[in-house]
Amino acid sequence: MEPTGPRPLSRRRFLAALAATGALAACSSDDGDDGAPGATVAGDPGRATTTTGPPLPTPDLPVAPFTLGVASGDPLDDRVILWTRLAPEPFAADGGMPDADVPVRWEVATDGGFGDVVAEGEAVATPALGHSVHVDATGLEPATTYWYRFIVGDHVSPVGRTRTLPASSSSPEAFTIGVANCQDYGSGYYAAYRHLVQEDLDVVAFLGDYIYERAGVDTPEEAIALRRNYGPEAVTLDQYRARYALYKLDTDLQAAHHAFPWIVLWDDHEVANNYAGPVGEKGEDPAEFDRRRAAAYQAWYEHLPVRVDPPDGPDLRIWRDFAVGDLAHLFAIDVRQSSDPIPCRATSTLDMGPGCAERDEPERSNLGDEQEAWLFDGLRASNARWNLLVNPVLMSGLDIAEQGEDPAYYLEVWDGFPEQRRRVVEVLDEEDVSNPVVISGDYHAAFVADLKADPWDPDAPVVAPELLGSSISSLVFSTDHTARNPQIRYFDPRNGYLVCRLSRDELVADFRYVADVGDPDSPLAPGATFVVTAGSPTAERR
Ligand code: FE
Ligand code: CA
Repeated sequence: MEPTGPRPLSRRRFLAALAATGALAACSSDDGDDGAPGATVAGDPGRATTTTGPPLPTPDLPVAPFTLGVASGDPLDDRVILWTRLAPEPFAADGGMPDADVPVRWEVATDGGFGDVVAEGEAVATPALGHSVHVDATGLEPATTYWYRFIVGDHVSPVGRTRTLPASSSSPEAFTIGVANCQDYGSGYYAAYRHLVQEDLDVVAFLGDYIYERAGVDTPEEAIALRRNYGPEAVTLDQYRARYALYKLDTDLQAAHHAFPWIVLWDDHEVANNYAGPVGEKGEDPAEFDRRRAAAYQAWYEHLPVRVDPPDGPDLRIWRDFAVGDLAHLFAIDVRQSSDPIPCRATSTLDMGPGCAERDEPERSNLGDEQEAWLFDGLRASNARWNLLVNPVLMSGLDIAEQGEDPAYYLEVWDGFPEQRRRVVEVLDEEDVSNPVVISGDYHAAFVADLKADPWDPDAPVVAPELLGSSISSLVFSTDHTARNPQIRYFDPRNGYLVCRLSRDELVADFRYVADVGDPDSPLAPGATFVVTAGSPTAERR
């Protein structure tokens, strides 16, 4: 979906943006507190490290390389991915780094002062992957909070805090997930993250639209001062890298990474609006679009703490699953890369419109055969009490027609793939899939919905609740379609995030909203709470 138009710039926001630019200059100071709860000033890096092989020379970097912060992600019960990218000049194509491999030391400690380092080592940052680092720090204890940092020469990174999952053999009583998505830099500030870092979360699930590829202003300085995207529409690796650099320079986003491990999915804007598999929105040459996907996927990998293979071309498997003891199993899925084309383009506008024969073809898939088989096998094999489908886009259906018109849909989401939806819902409805819940994003508004095989059939049974978190900053879509969609229980078009607190007996979903996305200091506005009781397929307002 495509929000439009810049927001007016108030004097207050302009001054705030200037202050942010000042903060950017201050990034050259290595060891500032990042402001995340639990984070501390990094200390003396002069500690012995264990390395194998001949030592690599450490280049003399006159400018601090940790401008983009650090991050952790994809926690398991004994390991977590630690990420950083060395970029002393974040808007330069090479990040301002020499064309050479660079050794990066890393440390994991049980305290923010690094008095008790329990894992450490040396990774190699290579020019081919933008001097990004993905360390899989293993040998950790389950359900334990750790702190981590990186060291290059005299430069010490900010400190991140992370947490492992509960032991896979355990029966945890509770687990809390923050849900975030859609953070268009050009349409608002990340005040939501200032509140999210104060939550007591085990993990953040980010469902997609981490960047927006659309064209912005001509210089990074203007982009930061005016809160706009920077550069032409991103197509090349250099352009995607610059886009991630702009977003990741935001200190509120960095703080959210520094506070919790993230599980990151992508949606469309990490590549191009409303793409599906090899097909773009604008009838691009397929070979050209493959190159674009390869560039976009590589930049995504280079900037995020994901346990996936390093990218090599226009295919990158990112679907993956996580066991939270026997309390929950999370299935994180990808609905773009392996998707069949968006249907009915002859009769739709911007992929909005009525159905057509193509839409109803039984074999059509937005998951692809391999991912579908993996998902269905995993759901059937799961013994978890809760089975969470971590899903980028609205699944429960939305008829967006005006009163008196024939039904119409957003054909780029599950409504463009109704038979695929039916297959998923049928598996979620099987007896051995305990308490399925769908957690979603993308819409730029919050929803609670009843998921059915046919969303508009009043006789179809409700199979699972869908909880859809609103956008962090992307322009909200405020048209209320609930009158034509009895499966929608709740709709709120404000920016914010979602907190899902799981226990053995219930899932409590707190919808949080920022009062003013144009204010980086915005307070939260009153939200709403829904509860799913184990054994019930619906979420009820509390
Ligand atoms: Fe979005
Ligand atoms: Ca999207």
